[in-house]
Amino acid sequence: MQNIAILGATGSIGASTIDVVLRHPDRFRVVALSAHSQTDKVVELASRLEPLYVALTGASEARAVRTALAERGLRTEVLEGSAGLEQIARAPEVDSVMSAIVGAAGLPPTLAAARAGKKILLANKESLVLAGGLLMAEVAAHAATLLPIDSEHNAVFQCMPVQGCHVGAASGVRRVLLTASGGPFRNTPVQELANVTPDQACAHPNWNMGRKISVDSATMMNKGLEVIEAHWLFDAPPDCIDVVIHPQSVIHSMVEYVDGSVLAQMGTPDMRTPIACALAWPQRIDAGVSMLDLAAKGTLTFERPDFERFPCLGLAYMALRAGGTAPAILNAANEVAVAAFLHGDVGFTGIYATVAETLERVPHEAADCLETVFAADRSARETARTVLAARCA
Ligand code: NAD
Ligand code: MG
Repeated sequence: MQNIAILGATGSIGASTIDVVLRHPDRFRVVALSAHSQTDKVVELASRLEPLYVALTGASEARAVRTALAERGLRTEVLEGSAGLEQIARAPEVDSVMSAIVGAAGLPPTLAAARAGKKILLANKESLVLAGGLLMAEVAAHAATLLPIDSEHNAVFQCMPVQGCHVGAASGVRRVLLTASGGPFRNTPVQELANVTPDQACAHPNWNMGRKISVDSATMMNKGLEVIEAHWLFDAPPDCIDVVIHPQSVIHSMVEYVDGSVLAQMGTPDMRTPIACALAWPQRIDAGVSMLDLAAKGTLTFERPDFERFPCLGLAYMALRAGGTAPAILNAANEVAVAAFLHGDVGFTGIYATVAETLERVPHEAADCLETVFAADRSARETARTVLAARCA
């Protein structure tokens, strides 16, 4: 029996994880879950899963859930704040931690899980973007296991040789090829991008995801963050990570070997596949995912990414090459800009402009401790808000 903590249980990845877990009650049990604000959903989930712990961000939300669970006769302990999140990430009853909070808030509990030597199922790519060096060092130091959930990285992981999951002479891996659908605006005339709405940006052609990551897919900042994520996961220099547009989202990513072999992982686009893969690793279990009908798909196509249409992708490569806190600054400015876009305060193309200007204004330094990373994160958020205010004035 694998005891699982789901951080971000009320989200899209959280729901897919619960779906897979409930298909295999003989293998998995949810012993802890966390959520930000949706108290009704938390009460419903806790009543169904009867975890030992539930963590809420705010004190009043925690109180409301505590009362509701007590009324139902449940003995679940309700924790709160970042301390509560970290407590469930390192709880002795927990074997595996699904890290599926959105944004920088996912980093501290992921680090706590690494320090406790847990098996970490990492959906929260921001952890690696912000503090990839620190997180990988903690994973190694505490013999934790880090399995990627992001579909591209899970695909790469599956295509990597057993003797070493990284790029380089020892593994014979020459290049990682991340596929990208190109999002909803792949063919939209560039001059129309300034006026697209949040709902249009969130209407992803192949994947059904949370709103923040959906906007990131539309700007291709998501792929940029994934390039940085791949750098840390697979020890891949920026020049060994390429992006290829593949609108059908059938190939989830590829690995190129020095002998010219290119291995691809394919499947119906459904996050339950990487989740099931990581949950059961190294075994395989049913994920409830429909079979891939290649004949029905007919054609798979590939294009080079257009860095003028998707300037956020170039920005992310730049931040990765700059190193240190530059990726944390990129990520923070992007979170602020995307929130402003979703709120109707800035246009779609304002996202790139805000992130680019913030990257120019905020000096970056070595990312040698968590305090430095979070200071860069805060400073970038402040600067991004100033940049946005000036743009909207
Ligand atoms: P979502 O918005 O659907 O859910 C986010 C979850 O995080 C919710 O449970 C919410 O309660 C919690 N949360 C939000 N803000 C929080 C905060 N400040 N503190 C604590 N908890 C907070 O997001 P999602 O689409 O499930 O994505 C989760 C993560 O997985 C993201 O890092 C995303 O990049 C990554 N990811 C998602 C997908 C996908 O298909 N949805 C694919 C690959 C990677
Ligand atoms: Mg992805």
